[in-house]
Amino acid sequence: MQIKELEKSSTGVFGAVTQWGHEQVVFCHDEATGLRAIIAIHNTTLGPALGGTRMWSYATEQEALTDVLRLSRGMTFKAAISGLNLGGGKAVIIGDANRVKTEAFMRRFGKFVNSLGGKYYTAEDVNMKTSDMEYIAMETKYVTGLPESMGGGGDPSPVTAYGVYLGMKATAKKVFGKDDLTGKRIGVQGVGQVGMHLVEHLIKENARVFITDISQAKVDALANKTGAIPVPQDEIYSLDLDIYAPCALGATVNDETIPLLKCAMIAGAANNQLKDEVKHGYMLADRGIVFAPDFLINAGGLINVYNEYLGNYNRQRAYQQAEKIYDTCLSILAFADQEKISSQEAAIQLSEKRIREIGNLRSRN
Ligand code: NAD
Repeated sequence: MQIKELEKSSTGVFGAVTQWGHEQVVFCHDEATGLRAIIAIHNTTLGPALGGTRMWSYATEQEALTDVLRLSRGMTFKAAISGLNLGGGKAVIIGDANRVKTEAFMRRFGKFVNSLGGKYYTAEDVNMKTSDMEYIAMETKYVTGLPESMGGGGDPSPVTAYGVYLGMKATAKKVFGKDDLTGKRIGVQGVGQVGMHLVEHLIKENARVFITDISQAKVDALANKTGAIPVPQDEIYSLDLDIYAPCALGATVNDETIPLLKCAMIAGAANNQLKDEVKHGYMLADRGIVFAPDFLINAGGLINVYNEYLGNYNRQRAYQQAEKIYDTCLSILAFADQEKISSQEAAIQLSEKRIREIGNLRSRN
């Protein structure tokens, strides 16, 4: 059987890996610590694959594989559209972070990262803390997201929130004719690390901000601090809003929620907000709701760790780079209009264009 035919007919692991063109997927196992992890390297044309490690109690191995493949592909686009010289990668560790994480467990994972020789750099993601990165750093230099005391960039969330805020303003310029958010009714779903900082920017600009979270304590604390208005979780979609800002989980823009939305635009921090990036991107466009591509406007965190990777971390430089999100967002929205495609598709096409062009440049020496 020819290789191409084999690829097409493949339904197992290779079927999944070839589906999105991944370069390498590494399955890591350590009997002594019970570590089971998958590292996925999607594309290294622009540079080493950098992406965080997520720890989650996946119900099945297939679920973990699908997650890491999807997330690592997203990192390729995020780095490319943000003008960074990085490829896309991600890692998942299967298990309950509260029960199985130990020093030995994290250091063993660090050894696996090290074995890739710098092709993959890790960082924090869901259920990973700076202290875990410190353990990983004992076994490899291919790690970012370290505390400032160790020369790292510290918590990336404020930079992420700043980028989301600027992406929101750029999208508002396109939708409302000016980027001023004064008086705009904005619903922020999820007031964790990023959502909380985003709300502070919005309140400073005199927006009317509505907040919701599964943690009532977080909602109450932020409402008291900023004057943002708490709303029940299930009301956020149907609220009379100008802007919906998903800052909790992915896939909240879907068949069920799109018909409920009354907003003119969506701009938030969550990764993979569109449950189906093609179908739901076009459903929004059909309803006249402008979508700020999530992997662009939430790239501040990646920009922050990129600066750490470059060395001599400087937070001001990270903020300056995050400011480019504003113009890039406007260019993507204009390109989407020009090509009559969804903004998500426009962002993907522009990312792929940069990868192609820089890849060609490199191959010419
Ligand atoms: P976080 O865990 O600090 O905050 C998420 C918040 O969402 C929590 O307060 C949680 O209680 C809440 N939440 C969960 N489910 C909810 C629901 N159904 N309804 C309402 N609230 C709910 O995470 P974060 O660091 O603030 O990240 C937020 C999102 O942005 C995530 O999707 C993350 O992947 C993405 N993101 C974060 C960064 C970063 O720098 N932290 C960078 C890029 C993307």
